[in-house]
Amino acid sequence: MTRTHCPYCALQCAMDVSPGGLISAESLCQKGWTAGEVLRAPDRLTTPLVDGRPATWDDALGQVVSRIQRVRAACGPDCVAVFGGGGLTNEKAYLLGKFARVALRTSRIDYNGRFCMSSAAAALRRAFGLDRGLPFPAADIAAARTVLLVGANPAETMPPFMRHLRGPKRLIVVDPRRTATAKLAGTHLQITPGTDLALALGLLHLAIADGLVDTGYVASRTSGFEQAAAASNDYWPERVERITGVAVHRLREVVRALARRPAIVLSARGAEQHAKGADTVTAFINLALALGLPGRPGCGFGTLTGQGNGQGGREHGQKADQLPGYRDIRDPAARAHVAAVWGVRPEDLPGPGPSAYELLRSLGTAGGPRAMLVFGSNPAVSAPDASVVRERLRALDFLMVCDVVPSETAALADVVLPVTQWAEEDGTMTTLEGEVVRRRRAVDPPPGVRSDLDVMCELARRLDAPGEFTPDPRRVYAELQRASAGGPVDYSGIDYDTGGVWGGTRMFQDRFATADGRALFVPVRFRPAEEDVCADFPVYLTTGRVAQQYQSGAQTRRVRELNRAAPGPFVELHPDLAAQLPVADGEVVRVTSRRGTVTAPARITATIRRDTVFMPFHWPGANLVTNPALDPMSRMPELKVCAVRVEAVGEN
Ligand code: SF4
Repeated sequence: MTRTHCPYCALQCAMDVSPGGLISAESLCQKGWTAGEVLRAPDRLTTPLVDGRPATWDDALGQVVSRIQRVRAACGPDCVAVFGGGGLTNEKAYLLGKFARVALRTSRIDYNGRFCMSSAAAALRRAFGLDRGLPFPAADIAAARTVLLVGANPAETMPPFMRHLRGPKRLIVVDPRRTATAKLAGTHLQITPGTDLALALGLLHLAIADGLVDTGYVASRTSGFEQAAAASNDYWPERVERITGVAVHRLREVVRALARRPAIVLSARGAEQHAKGADTVTAFINLALALGLPGRPGCGFGTLTGQGNGQGGREHGQKADQLPGYRDIRDPAARAHVAAVWGVRPEDLPGPGPSAYELLRSLGTAGGPRAMLVFGSNPAVSAPDASVVRERLRALDFLMVCDVVPSETAALADVVLPVTQWAEEDGTMTTLEGEVVRRRRAVDPPPGVRSDLDVMCELARRLDAPGEFTPDPRRVYAELQRASAGGPVDYSGIDYDTGGVWGGTRMFQDRFATADGRALFVPVRFRPAEEDVCADFPVYLTTGRVAQQYQSGAQTRRVRELNRAAPGPFVELHPDLAAQLPVADGEVVRVTSRRGTVTAPARITATIRRDTVFMPFHWPGANLVTNPALDPMSRMPELKVCAVRVEAVGEN
């Protein structure tokens, strides 16, 4: 048995894996228990494919290099794009950023984490000076008397996390659906989709009006309170009730509970995946600061990272504007430091590129990239307004995908390269608590597959890239440590084998990571969803997860037990809406937005608001209708709310 970690979410549960792929562990969810089956997926990719036909590695890599060279010769280095993923190990995320900037010399690199929690990351950096999902150990949550959970459903997405939320505490859940987590909560605020920001402003307004602000903490540990307080003036309780649908007395109850410390505020994708996601998270941080929570034992503000390496994946340079160590690619000192580690001149490093959706949207357009290399991502399913994204992927001169199974994006590729996966490889991952954990090779990969690191190094070699490229994860990690040393996120003191937590486990006890050590209140104002409901599109659509599937489903849809439990997409709708259509449970409905149409069986339940329908995004479909409007600060798309029309189609 070899100790490694689950391939899926950011909890990164430890598990022992036998050479045959059998799993034993103390506490896993159904996805974790069955993860061994992905190693043996019947359609596992084991041979490179060129134009859909099997090829040798030499031929396939030769094709990739000659196509890249052709595109570069025609229109320059920025005509080649790279798309990464939040599930890649730290070493892969790091090497991918280096490969793009040094071997391809392109600024066109971003990753699917942009669709995940980029808005929370931006808000955390702005307020605290540093982006750590949970700046305190998850175990601290047990000590809180009150936990406000905004747009999170850990009972389904990461069930073992629920152990932190049990016990004699008041759990308050904000969600348009009565989810499995909301059912366990003492208080469920079933808000109108897209109004979390108004809720946070209303709670701050009440905290001030009712004299609940921790004035000593605000004076000694923060700056900017007056401006944020002034911005909350317009959000008096009755107005917030009209916007959110949450009754005034509930608002008052919630803010009073939070003011009785210890209390914790946690956000997740429900609050963050909006075109105002960064301001929404900021508004909840403002509330937490006003109540004196961050940096105190059993208290704080945090956000629940979703993807397996969501935290590490955004620290090492696969983001469009970032170099390793969370350094800003525009900063001359950062460029000089990283260029020295990479053995290139700072002036040879490209500048920032467009964000993920903007990058995908520009593919194959005049002046946009003509070739793209994808590692560990399935944007044909996971990107918003997915029909446009698929059209753009098809418009490319050349698409290469590295994956373990033939994903929907791989199906569009000219070259598909079969790569190793979790239990077949070594490396490190960073959990939602910022803990670096070791992924260990427990199982031999099938003959014929190579690691993503190997692919990047071989392509770099064939492209005559300057500097050194090694596929050995231990050596890549050592280089990552040098590249991150002295940066906002510094891995230089964290050992590859034994791991550790960068910046300490319980942060901000004495000072925040801002220049003056104070947390920053930022004044924000509510703005409605980018699309409000109207006569043509009278219902809100929100999207999310089910317990048995993960992200775009490329892995979990191939596990029989998970597929039996969650075999396909559905549209959750309220009985009153079903009666209006009319539609019976299981009958097919058509969901149409301004961008497209998707059909799926109806699942009728009184646990959802009358004005809202829900679709899981693990299958191709839901994102055909979602809204790609972007958050101005983080470039997060408005994945969580759009206006749709729902019509009955007939029997399934
Ligand atoms: Fe894996 Fe997350 Fe489930 Fe743990 S909770 S077993 S890390 S999917």
